[in-house]
Amino acid sequence: MSRRRASSPSFGRSDWPWLALAVAGAGVLGWGVWGDAPAEPSSPAVIAALPAPAGTLPVSPGTVSLDAAAPDAKSAPDGGAVCAGCDIVVITVCSLRRDHVGAYGEHPGITPALDSLAADGVRFTRAYAASNFTLASLAAVLTGRFGSHSGVTGWDKGLTADVPTLPEVLGIYGYRTGAFTVDAPSGFRPDYGLHRGFQRMEIVPPPRDTPDGRFLQGDATPRGATAGPLVDWLGSQDASRPIFAMMHTRTAHYPFVLGPPAEGEDPTGVRQLLWEAGRAVPTDGKGAQAMPGMAGGTAQRGVVSIGGPDPLQRKVRELGAPAVAVWREAYAEAVTRMDLDVKRVLDAIEARGRKDRTIVLVVGDHGESLDDHGELLHGDAYWDSVVNVPLLMRVPGLTRRGKAVDALVSQADILPTLLDLVGAVPPAGVDGVSMVPLLTGATSRVRDVAFVEGGVARQVSDVPRGAVVTADWSLLRQDRGCGEVPGQDAPRRPGEPATCLYARADDAAQATNVARTHAEVVADLLGRWEAFRAANAAAAAPLTLDAGFVKTLQQNGYAFTPGPAAGDTPRSGGAPASGSR
Ligand SMILES: [Zn+2]
Repeated sequence: MSRRRASSPSFGRSDWPWLALAVAGAGVLGWGVWGDAPAEPSSPAVIAALPAPAGTLPVSPGTVSLDAAAPDAKSAPDGGAVCAGCDIVVITVCSLRRDHVGAYGEHPGITPALDSLAADGVRFTRAYAASNFTLASLAAVLTGRFGSHSGVTGWDKGLTADVPTLPEVLGIYGYRTGAFTVDAPSGFRPDYGLHRGFQRMEIVPPPRDTPDGRFLQGDATPRGATAGPLVDWLGSQDASRPIFAMMHTRTAHYPFVLGPPAEGEDPTGVRQLLWEAGRAVPTDGKGAQAMPGMAGGTAQRGVVSIGGPDPLQRKVRELGAPAVAVWREAYAEAVTRMDLDVKRVLDAIEARGRKDRTIVLVVGDHGESLDDHGELLHGDAYWDSVVNVPLLMRVPGLTRRGKAVDALVSQADILPTLLDLVGAVPPAGVDGVSMVPLLTGATSRVRDVAFVEGGVARQVSDVPRGAVVTADWSLLRQDRGCGEVPGQDAPRRPGEPATCLYARADDAAQATNVARTHAEVVADLLGRWEAFRAANAAAAAPLTLDAGFVKTLQQNGYAFTPGPAAGDTPRSGGAPASGSR
């Protein structure tokens, strides 16, 4: 895959309409020049590989190496902030379950680097992802907005230029900003608008120790390679200006990176199949043979059109608990491999001599089901296994160390929190709230409700899919059903999602749907969600996925093909299906 500079269709003054307001009176703004090309505000996209429908822009895979100038305008941080002008390093970890970070206690010892971070900082026990798949969650991290407010709720939706991003704001405060990830279907790329504000973005060929690079470049070792570009960048930055760096690692994503099983190691044969899953190369153009897993998705058409149960998942179902156990072991192994990405970054911060001036935040973009409710991966449902994500923060100057914070928070709160910590003013229109009072112990509550929105499947009705979470309840609206006995879910019309309600106090495992006996709670939570959307819903930048991007999605377990546009009726008998037990 050739290394190329990516550009966006609309870099220029129109990208920053919010900025003039945000820094009014702060001086003349400077505009970014992308790469070494002449400044040209309306330079066309170079990403296109296939013709796109009218009104949309294509999303393509590929490596990216881009540079942009920082804005000339500067604001001074509030000197009274907790960590005014401190460096910030954010690591988003794909598919990381909260209970698979050792510090949370359920699986001790499998993430030593993350555990060391938790020991030096705080861990949040009720942090909620803004979605159940990567793109929409990262958009919330970078904008401080829930999905319906940024518009980014599906693979065909990108960030519009009028939504400010975290690196754009930090740039105004003089930060050098860098973004680092691998060429994979994460959505953390210019095609989706998530590059905005990063003065340096590197999307590198997937290393061998990632699911994307394993079959391309050989199996397994080396380890921690995803962190290489960020580590190099950190080492090249002097201390004259603060930095903001963000890395997205996919090392824990399916297909799990593991070695072939030893003879007799696994009688179920699942480990052998998992090993082969990451090495297979699509040969028939449909991914039918090569893609034994899927990240989720019930039988419906749209951007995601699931072709039916895949052989590997079917085998796991047939074999039951022993096979699920093998699957879980392979996932835990992948998590430990991912932890080495984190270790390299923490070591690099230490090597810079800036540990006492660097805020480090690690968050799961979403979790992984691991068969908790009949789903193995993620992207189709909103149970806590997938949306209650790990969130760790180490902040210089704060004395609370090794503590757990149990307050309800969201990925949308990350942007205002980081800005608050360094003494920067958040842009208008942010849904998130600062978690700093939780970090200092000044309060035990900063929000009453968190929304989880969107998913990998394009929705076939106007009823949104997602979750509404409060201190006491989780309300899920999902096509997959509620994980109960087939046929026992409350009746619903074709195209309508199931409604699942769980009481946190006495059902942490979310095993018993009480929606039918708590209609008033359902109505209240749905009403809050509808009111939020009515006040904030925004349109996304419409995108279409080119064949190459679809292929990379397939290689990562999203077993789908481009389908008809939203608004189609669901396929006959399209009921929840494959996933419901
Ligand atoms: Zn992800």
